[in-house]
Amino acid sequence: MDMTAAAVKQAAKEYGADLVGIASIDRFSALAPERNPASIFPECRSVIVLARRILRGAMRGIEEGTNFSSTYGMFGFRWLEDNFLAQTTYDLTCFLEAAAVEAVPLFGYFEEGMAKGVAVAQGKPAPNVIVDPHYAAQAAGLGEIGLGGFFLTPQYGLRQRFALILTDAALEADPVSDKRICSDCGACAAACPFGAMDARNTRQVGVTGHEKPVATIDYEICRSCPNGAMLGPGRGSRPDRLAAACARACLVRLEQAGKCANKFDQPFRKRPPWAVDLLRRPVDAAEGSRPADLGCGKNLDRIGQRDGSQETRP
Ligand code: SF4
Ligand code: SF4
Repeated sequence: MDMTAAAVKQAAKEYGADLVGIASIDRFSALAPERNPASIFPECRSVIVLARRILRGAMRGIEEGTNFSSTYGMFGFRWLEDNFLAQTTYDLTCFLEAAAVEAVPLFGYFEEGMAKGVAVAQGKPAPNVIVDPHYAAQAAGLGEIGLGGFFLTPQYGLRQRFALILTDAALEADPVSDKRICSDCGACAAACPFGAMDARNTRQVGVTGHEKPVATIDYEICRSCPNGAMLGPGRGSRPDRLAAACARACLVRLEQAGKCANKFDQPFRKRPPWAVDLLRRPVDAAEGSRPADLGCGKNLDRIGQRDGSQETRP
């Protein structure tokens, strides 16, 4: 049975996907074998990228600073990724297999800190090969990586999570979008109480020919950030920042600028933002980033929470 991109997208929507895009495998050809979907499935011809939205309501508890776990922690993060989106991915994979199409489902986890084994044969990369979900989402035409390191779509801004399906079906690919969503406003960096983002020191990230500037982000600081960042089980060492102070500032900016098609009657930010230092003492978030005063950067060294020998990673 011939499988079409339209049939895949319709099925994905019926199984609960809010976004679906398709990339041809050649868009991954510049990637190292350790990050390349073709290392997992050499016959892969198309990469289907699925997303489900992070409910804006799931971010309310963190925005107010009054509930982190059962709102965002579950409905916006772990259950969303490991249950709801995984079910959508599983159902679409079943749909493809029922049509005699080989399909390989993958979580959209990041590589940093994930366990690595030993190559099982010469010429093969060591398990586990992990495909960057942001790269795949851009290759599938779903949006861009903003200055703050968040993946931005025209529908939800930064409010979505991704999963992948590798398939040997040659599906019509979506074009890579060069429409800018990020305005380079710097609100994400300014909202960080610890100065963990350096928006003046960027690197180009993304699909070849469509790279975008991304700020240098010190994830070592983010891992200790009590302003909404979280680590999830089985996800390695890259913290989830999508409800942290930096990301919520971005969400506010994107909505104010009319950059999210998913609109609401009421603004997300109804009260002044809160912020706490590493010892969870309230600080004045409105004053912006004051790293030397707030227990970050230099102060991390002083209070022994940071090993100065560790790398700073973008
Ligand atoms: S997660 Fe916390 S420390 Fe990291 S950039 Fe965002 S606000 Fe700053
Ligand atoms: S806050 Fe501004 S600069 Fe940062 S990612 Fe969002 S739109 Fe881009």
